[in-house]
Amino acid sequence: MKKVVILIALVTTLISCNKTTKSEGGENTSTENNMSDTQKDQLFACPMHPEVTGKKGEKCSKCGMELTEPVVQKEPSHDHSDGTHDHNDNSTVEPKVVETTQTSSTPFSTNGIIDDYLKIKNALTKDDANGAAKAGKTLYKTFNSINTTSLTASQKKEYLDIADDAKEHAEHIGDNAGKIDHQREHFAILSKDINDLIKLLGSNKKLYQDHCPMYDDGKGAIWISESKEIKNPYYGSKMLTCGSLKKTL
Ligand SMILES: [Zn+2]
Ligand SMILES: [Zn+2]
Repeated sequence: MKKVVILIALVTTLISCNKTTKSEGGENTSTENNMSDTQKDQLFACPMHPEVTGKKGEKCSKCGMELTEPVVQKEPSHDHSDGTHDHNDNSTVEPKVVETTQTSSTPFSTNGIIDDYLKIKNALTKDDANGAAKAGKTLYKTFNSINTTSLTASQKKEYLDIADDAKEHAEHIGDNAGKIDHQREHFAILSKDINDLIKLLGSNKKLYQDHCPMYDDGKGAIWISESKEIKNPYYGSKMLTCGSLKKTL
């Protein structure tokens, strides 16, 4: 029997709630705001009629006694009313994580680079060396104006490796308007760079990776396209439909 009593006592001890409360910053301020007017002028109550309150020196409307009892402002009480109160909480109030979005600078986007690349590609499919050169120059400028501030350090490093190489090929395509074969040599390597860029940083466009098995004496070459339809930029009108879709990016 004694054991049972001890057990009950023990259980009761375990169940009983820990009354120590943490004072939480902020509780007081909200009360002050609600009572800003009364806070300034301390209220006093009638010693006999606590419900009758007024300023110091005023008389009770019921008995005429002077209001002498300072009215204690209601302390922010430990609220159990909602029933969800948990006393086992070890949790301190977690600081709210405010997500700051970068609004000051335009976020990095591969869109401009890809658009210019596709212009080169489409010019080459039409055997348009001048158009390819023009687009190559534009792509070179686009690379120089890209804002990389929103990239992480490692993204930025990889991006710059790709961009440095791609810029050079864009420049050569731009400078060789009369030599479409030479432009295509650079386009083959540029296409790999653009593929790497999309792999690294993505694109919000639907793009396809196509493959020409014949280019460069059968070594083959890839290109990126915005269209499912095969239009070969390496041979143009000679073999426009040579090649196959390798994957959707
Ligand atoms: Zn409690
Ligand atoms: Zn060159």
